[in-house]
Amino acid sequence: MMPELMDAFRQVTESSAFAGGPYVSRFETEFAAYCQVRHALGVGSGTDALWLSLIALGVGHGDEVITVPNSFMATAEAISLCGARPVFVDIDPRTYTMDPAQLEAKISLRTQAIIPVHIFGQMAEMDRILSIARRHGTPVLEDACQAHGADYCGKKAGSLGVAGCFSFYPGKNLGAFGEAGAVVTDDSELRTKVQVLRDHGQATKHLHSTIGWNARMDGIQAAVLSVKLRRLASSNAARRVRAQMYDELLADEPQVIRPFVRSECTHVYHIYAVRVPNRDAVMERMAARGVRCGIHYPVPIHLQKAYSFLGLKVGSFPVAERCANEFLSLPMYPEIRRDQVEFVVETLKDCLHA
Ligand SMILES: *Cc1c(COP(=O)(O)O)cnc(C)c1O
Repeated sequence: MMPELMDAFRQVTESSAFAGGPYVSRFETEFAAYCQVRHALGVGSGTDALWLSLIALGVGHGDEVITVPNSFMATAEAISLCGARPVFVDIDPRTYTMDPAQLEAKISLRTQAIIPVHIFGQMAEMDRILSIARRHGTPVLEDACQAHGADYCGKKAGSLGVAGCFSFYPGKNLGAFGEAGAVVTDDSELRTKVQVLRDHGQATKHLHSTIGWNARMDGIQAAVLSVKLRRLASSNAARRVRAQMYDELLADEPQVIRPFVRSECTHVYHIYAVRVPNRDAVMERMAARGVRCGIHYPVPIHLQKAYSFLGLKVGSFPVAERCANEFLSLPMYPEIRRDQVEFVVETLKDCLHA
């Protein structure tokens, strides 16, 4: 293991700073600076970050929160756990992020927040989303769980909405040695509310002003994240180099739809997802030849059994549904070598034509 990580473990162990504490505070300061915001708060997971932010925004029973159907389940779960109802907007067929042209029609008197998801590592079309939201006085909460370090017109993911939510699940671009998450915000009132909520509603020890939860970040995770944060910019750059290799090698394959990057955005390629015909068969053939791909995500949230009560059927969100049938996530990590990328592309092309 890297000596810096060994040191981090030793320091946390020797000071017994296991839950919250100085390593968490230090990481919060560093991560806030990285995201170009005033405050960051470490929490237990990305799901906690979303849930507590929504509660802090006052979202509760009978409210509606707008998001997209092509996200990880947690985005909708956080809304439901507040007692609110997720309302979905279809996605843009090129970027796979919330289609701003379809947003306004979904805003109702019950809408309490809008959660664009910066899916795969590219930020949603924030200028248009924010201007619609502003017209309606609705706060925008960024689900930045796949977009650590991504930017939009030079502004970092998490810094554009009222708050940004991050996950440090091990597989994310910035991953802990277990579960962790963060809320970033410039709003000091929101910061205080989340801080109280993550610690059982206590602003002062033994005095509980509200009903909260145990959603603190572990000291060990914070110490690990402080070390790994120093490498985030370079590992994101390495992912972009790999994405460019894929782009170039796949350019002559008309059956593959490659990721589209908007000129305002710096993509961080948490996932390099292409779209292919006969996806399931192609993926199976690739696996048989030793190339394991993923799908993010095969079943859109509105078609999950858990959300059958919403009464949404196949055809409700045609773009998200078509993409869910075509998405194929190719191996993507900062250390993947050129010859490995070449092998993946060669295998993909063979399997498409098999
Ligand atoms: C990972 C992820 C989450 C949830 O984060 P956890 O840390 O696993 O709770 C939420 N939204 C998106 C888009 C994610 O990718």
